[in-house]
Amino acid sequence: MKKLPLSLILASLSTGTAFLLSCGSSPSSQTAPFSPKLSQYQSSVKITQALIPEGRYGRAKNGRMNPSYITIHSTQNYGAGADARTHARLLQRGGLTSKNNSLGYLTWHFSVDAHSIYQSLPTNEQGQHADYEGTGNRKSIGIEMCENRGNSRSATLDRTARLTADLMKRHKIPLNRVVPHQHWERIRYSDGRNLGHKNCPNFLMTNGKPGAKWQAFLNQIKSHL
Ligand SMILES: [Zn+2]
Repeated sequence: MKKLPLSLILASLSTGTAFLLSCGSSPSSQTAPFSPKLSQYQSSVKITQALIPEGRYGRAKNGRMNPSYITIHSTQNYGAGADARTHARLLQRGGLTSKNNSLGYLTWHFSVDAHSIYQSLPTNEQGQHADYEGTGNRKSIGIEMCENRGNSRSATLDRTARLTADLMKRHKIPLNRVVPHQHWERIRYSDGRNLGHKNCPNFLMTNGKPGAKWQAFLNQIKSHL
């Protein structure tokens, strides 16, 4: 694995339309076919830093974390503009609020599309992407795979696999602790209601659970270790 170049590009971005949800919400599901084949994409992992301002919005409470899991999501945002950059910009300006968790915002660490990776949180800070106050948020790095229209799913999966492999090595996280969002039971903070296990990332689950497609993705990660 190549060493991770951290590019410090704080791109000047036009304001996107704030139509996005996150996989914490539940728009309709998509059933596009999944190909476990590796794409031809061969670049090394590059990350654009787009951190949420320290002490604000989703970093108003920057709970410390020593990550021992990596949680994989997909955005279920199918709009043409719902790419990694747009999600990162939304998080940066506090655009994804939540009434249901203790933080008041939805946050995660990395957004990935076919062409880019944006980082929104340092990996030693907790996000709010998995299970409210549960272990998924307290102990895991959250990665959202984008599903914007026209975005290559196979290239997004390949980029996500490379990023995941790199994070595993950097944080000494074993493959059996790379989990789908579905892994975590969600006890909602606001009312204590048990929301069960989310079907996320939905295009890698089989009848709502990890199966052959998830295993193929794990194998893809393994090929980069
Ligand atoms: Zn999710």
